[in-house]
Formats: sequence, C-alpha cells, structure tokens
Amino acid sequence: VNNSARLQALQQEFLRLGFDALLIAHLPNVRYLSGFTGSSGVLVLATDGCVFFTDGRYKEQAREEVKDAKVVIGQRSAMASAAEWFGRRRKSSKSKGLKLGIEGEHLTVAERRRLVSLLPKYVSVREAPALTERARMIKDADEISLIREAVHVGAGLLDHALESIRLGKTETEAAARMEFAAREAGADGMSFETIIASGRRSALPHGRASGKAITHGFVVCDFGVILHGYCSDRTRTVYAGSATKDARRIYGAVLEAQLAAIDAVRPGVSVGSVDQAARKVLRRNGLAKYFTHSTGHGVGLEIHEAPRVAKGQPELLRPGMVITVEPGLYVPGRWGVRIEDMVVVTEHGCEVLDPTRKEFIVI
Ligand code: ZN
Ligand code: ZN
Repeated sequence: VNNSARLQALQQEFLRLGFDALLIAHLPNVRYLSGFTGSSGVLVLATDGCVFFTDGRYKEQAREEVKDAKVVIGQRSAMASAAEWFGRRRKSSKSKGLKLGIEGEHLTVAERRRLVSLLPKYVSVREAPALTERARMIKDADEISLIREAVHVGAGLLDHALESIRLGKTETEAAARMEFAAREAGADGMSFETIIASGRRSALPHGRASGKAITHGFVVCDFGVILHGYCSDRTRTVYAGSATKDARRIYGAVLEAQLAAIDAVRPGVSVGSVDQAARKVLRRNGLAKYFTHSTGHGVGLEIHEAPRVAKGQPELLRPGMVITVEPGLYVPGRWGVRIEDMVVVTEHGCEVLDPTRKEFIVI
C-alpha cells in the first residue's frame, strides 16, 4: 500500500482549500493514510510532513505499521499529544497563524473543546470537508483485490448456514454457523451484526438474528466479514416452507430490480440514476412503495461509506468505486425480501464481485 502517495494527494487538497494542516482522528481514515490498525491514534498532516501520535500501548505496532509518518509516542491521549506538538513548534514570524482542519463528522463537541483548549493560540481550528472519505471512494488495485478476497470469504458463509435455516431452528443458530465459518476462514470479524430475519421479522430491513424460531415465509440473510481490514456485504433471501405463487412473483421483481440497477452502473452515471433503475422496475410491478430504503452504499474499510446510492444523489460513478446494489421490499408485519451484491465500477461498466446464484431458494 502506497501511503505516501495518499498523503501527498491529501496535502495538495487541503492546501488548495486554504488549510495549513489537517488533523485526522477517524480511525479508518488514519488507517487508510498511515497503515496503523490500532484503536488509538491521530495523524497530523502539515506542509512540512506528517506526524502520527499514539500512546505507549501501541509503541511497537506503530513503529511496524506506520512507514510514511514520523511516530510520536505520547504520555497522554493521542489527541493531547498532537495538541502539545503544535505547542512545541515555534511559530514562524512570517505567518499570521495556522489554520488547522478537523474532521467535523467525527469529533464530538467535547473533543473539539478539549482540543481547542490544549492548542497554542496561533492555531485556529476549522471544520474541513471530508477529504479522506472522498479519496477513499476510489479504491486502488490493492484495495480491490483485498475487497475481492473479503467478498469471496463472505460469499461462502450462507452455504454453511443453509442447513440451519430450517423451520423450528432459531435465527441465532443460523447466524452462529455463519460467524463460526467466517472465523475459520480467517476473517478479522463480521462487518456488522448478522441479519437473519424470518417470517414477519423479515419486514425489518435491519432485523438482526434473534432467538426466535424460523417460521414459514421469507428469511432475509444479510452478512459480511472483515478481512485484512476490508468489509464485505451481501444479502440473500430464501424461503422457508412451501412458497406461494405470490412469493415467487415478489422475489422475481426484487431480483429484476437488482439486475436492472447493476446494469445501470458505469462511469459517468449518477448514483441517483442507479437508484432510479431499481425503483423503476418495482414501480412497474406496483411494488415501489414497499422499497423503503436507498439502493446501496460504498463499502471499503467501513461497511457504510461514500457514496450513498440514493434517490436524487448527484455523485457520479468513477472507475474504482465499490458499491452495494441492494433493493428490497418490506410490508410491515408481513414479509420482506432483499438481494444484495457488491460491485466494482470498471472502465466501461461494472463487475459483480464474486457472483453467486440468486435464484429463488425454497428450504
Ligand atoms: Zn448488507
Ligand atoms: Zn449493504
């Protein structure tokens, strides 16, 4: 991973926007820019270089992982160490002061107040745009191959669970099978709480596995792993018991909507029109009002990251973006269906990462 290229690109961006330095505290951003995988660290990018702050617990790990920034092991929190560092730097007589950009989305009000109180007077704190998140939207070849691996491990999990997705077994039983298999396959962990939602619970778009027994009807299974820091995300919906004609029709409509949205993914197209492509199919089937969330989201070091693939969003797709395509239908108290895959935008279209079957499965 080329951290120095990422740091240089970011430095150009913040200088262009009139900042003199940038303080990165959001850990996925810290990891992206420095390679540090621990749970406490702050990165400061200044015009004359880059400094990484952490505490004694991460002394060895930081020296091993952080190659393109100076490492400072502080006695206090990483944030306090960073503030003290600005205090030790002599203010150049020419400059009127230093404008430090912070990540407004990730600092609490209290953290910002503490930071300001620790910083010397010549440093003024301003909220910077989400520059690192914008850079992270475009995955490089290394990242795409890591994501591909994560998707590959994630994709195999449902097979392990299928024998547990049976009438009378509990949702957590099926989730446990998947999570055990994920760890066995080398995953760092799950990328979110496994969703196994059966019967009426399938109408909850985020119905994480419960102690409830699997009942007749759709079973929404939404799951993913973290491998080498990168997340996977996939949903398959199966049917427990004997399927009605209506159930097949509904499943077919969701699948058609998903395929239409995937078909719409190519460079230069807005994410909003990908969302639109899914909605159009559901509208034609008279089902659009039951599609109550957005069509997808970016995935990478975080399970939900930019861009948001939602109605009216103007962001244009570019090669290297990795997004989910996951239309769903939910009738409260009755049933829900969702089908989700991750795709990578290529030069001329997109590639479904590790495609697996999506035909209607009755168990
Ligand atoms: Zn998902
Ligand atoms: Zn998702």
